[in-house]
Amino acid sequence: MIFRQLFDAQTHTYSYLLGCERTRRASLIDSVASEVDTYIDLLQSLNLNLLYTFETHVHADHITGAGLLRQKLGSKSVVHRDAGAMCADLLVTDGVLLQIGDLEFEVRHTPGHTNGCVSYLMQDRVFTGDALLINGSGRTDFQQGDAGQLYDSITKKLFSLPADTLVYPGHDYHGNTVSTIKQEITKNSRLGNNTSREQFIATMQNLKLAYPKFIDQALPANQSCGLMPQG
Ligand code: FE
Repeated sequence: MIFRQLFDAQTHTYSYLLGCERTRRASLIDSVASEVDTYIDLLQSLNLNLLYTFETHVHADHITGAGLLRQKLGSKSVVHRDAGAMCADLLVTDGVLLQIGDLEFEVRHTPGHTNGCVSYLMQDRVFTGDALLINGSGRTDFQQGDAGQLYDSITKKLFSLPADTLVYPGHDYHGNTVSTIKQEITKNSRLGNNTSREQFIATMQNLKLAYPKFIDQALPANQSCGLMPQG
């Protein structure tokens, strides 16, 4: 497996490149529009063909590179059916398996940050988007956010994975790069260490976070796969 964790410093977004060594086929999870030229150079230098861009959800804080990559490289964009991005080539639901050469990804629907959030499970690692973050979670105060639903998604769909599964989140604001399911079950300050559903909901209600800086540009753009909305 070819694996790269990529970071967009402006929005603290992690993107992930995964490639099959045998077939040279690749996918990018949560690409960022402003980084598209970097991805193309990287794909070229690794001799990889980009088949898919996977979105963990419709982002409010950065613009996806999915539409641009589709235009430039012919890749197909993948998003959950409930995400509200009908521009995608493939709308997926819980349990769908996606094959990239020898790499198999399982879609796990993990709503709560948004309706259409998914995590992608691949071998020993899971890409959790903005559902489970390292020592945190996605916010639940806009985009159909629901703290109780997020608690259920994380505790049932992610904490049930093998303890040593690597957790790769959609963002990190503190320099963390990777965690494990065990680390989050035991140490996550929002919902680890047997935090109850009620406690988590109360914590999320009291966060009082600022309105996201880019949401008014990012949401409509991402509903059109990162390209300017038509009409
Ligand atoms: Fe998000």
